[in-house]
Amino acid sequence: MTSSTLPPLPPLPRPYQDTAAYWEAAREHRFIIQKCNNCGEYQFYPRGVCSHCLSSDLAWQDASGRGEVYSFSINYRAPHPGFADKTPFVLALVTLAEGPRMMTNIVDCDPDTVQIGMAVTVTFDDVTEEITLPKFRPAYTKVR
Ligand SMILES: [Zn+2]
Repeated sequence: MTSSTLPPLPPLPRPYQDTAAYWEAAREHRFIIQKCNNCGEYQFYPRGVCSHCLSSDLAWQDASGRGEVYSFSINYRAPHPGFADKTPFVLALVTLAEGPRMMTNIVDCDPDTVQIGMAVTVTFDDVTEEITLPKFRPAYTKVR
């Protein structure tokens, strides 16, 4: 087997009842978030009740995939052997266009170019056959 020669995987999400739909959509390169049918608020991360009104009447909605960097950190040291070949990488809080904030990575750019307030758009990292991680990349706007 060649698996011993592959770099170790980073820790991966373990989908469960409240998150399975989210990870299934991500695997299909769709970015969905929960919206409360009772109060109309969006929330992230996925959970069994609304974080605004505690209703369990939640629905999944396709999100715009747009957001902006709220805060970020450039990581130069791998926190786990699975990140050893990924440094430096950007860990960020992104404010989604729908409102909630999401912890994610900013990818497909030089980490030194990331700025607070920067417009970003979702992209998908197929880490394994089962797990795809929604991440964000700069949403470059065309000049002229
Ligand atoms: Zn609610």
